[in-house]
Amino acid sequence: MLRVSAMTANNSSPAFLDASRPDTPDLVVPQGVVPFYLDHRPVRGRLVRPGVLTDTLLTRHDNPDAVLRLAGEALALVAALASSLKFRGSFSLQAKGDGPVSLLLADCTDSGALRFHARSDDEQVAELLKTTPAPTASQLLGKGYIAFSVDQGPDTDIYQGIVEMNGESLSEMAAHYFATSEQHACWVRLFCEKTPVGWRSGALVMEKIAMDGGIDADMTPEEGDDAWETAVTLATTLTAREVLDDSLSSADLLYRLFHAEGLVAGQPRALAFGCRCSRARLSGILETFPLDDLDHMAQDGTITMNCSFCNHSFHFQRDEIGGKAA
Ligand SMILES: [Zn+2]
Repeated sequence: MLRVSAMTANNSSPAFLDASRPDTPDLVVPQGVVPFYLDHRPVRGRLVRPGVLTDTLLTRHDNPDAVLRLAGEALALVAALASSLKFRGSFSLQAKGDGPVSLLLADCTDSGALRFHARSDDEQVAELLKTTPAPTASQLLGKGYIAFSVDQGPDTDIYQGIVEMNGESLSEMAAHYFATSEQHACWVRLFCEKTPVGWRSGALVMEKIAMDGGIDADMTPEEGDDAWETAVTLATTLTAREVLDDSLSSADLLYRLFHAEGLVAGQPRALAFGCRCSRARLSGILETFPLDDLDHMAQDGTITMNCSFCNHSFHFQRDEIGGKAA
């Protein structure tokens, strides 16, 4: 995911930024994800609240606000799903459609490193906003497909599930995906808004787990269904105002929702600014370009590559890159 652009005199970065790692925020939110389960009930879930990290991730991109809002929801969703990875790896969402946002990518590693990229046609977004000030995910993405994949390293297969986008919101699209791909019921609610203190996002994801192992043997399937329905009813009362309010802790929010339902909160997990670009990696990519292309990309002897995940520009002298002879 690289965009190559010619450097102009007024956006050149100082040399000290040209280290192998870009000068992106070293931001970690220690309690970004709180896993939980409801004791003696077939319910487990995760509450995701990246706090100021959402603002840091979104504001590095120049997509319109309507697109950033959708991206914030996607980030909260992948943060929730990556937190269940049992091995090293990453969880990613990729939505491709025929709407003003033709591509939305978000991923999160097992250690909580988040990043995203959205490709939007800003004129088309502006046109949509004239008639629809708060467009839904469906209106932004159009018709297309959404893929969820788990990448657990170079020696493993990438697990990928792809479904047609179905639903108005990203919450509904994700729920539709789980309804078609998982054996058990899932419930997803995503949040993202620009608040007076910046962008905030959140996710509450719950799944109905199998009625064995840890669940009371004397709970009938019907009682299990009832317990799940109660949890969903309670989860539905969670408001955007609560989720996006930094002054409320995740522990407090979960207590408000589920204290009468045997809430057991697990060990919180961190989320972090997670671009994996580096100068070394980008120069490796440039080395694979034909000489003619490199010459064409260079402006005044400098090639600029822009990471589409963190929007950092890397500058290379044309003569440091050998390139590939045709
Ligand atoms: Zn980057």
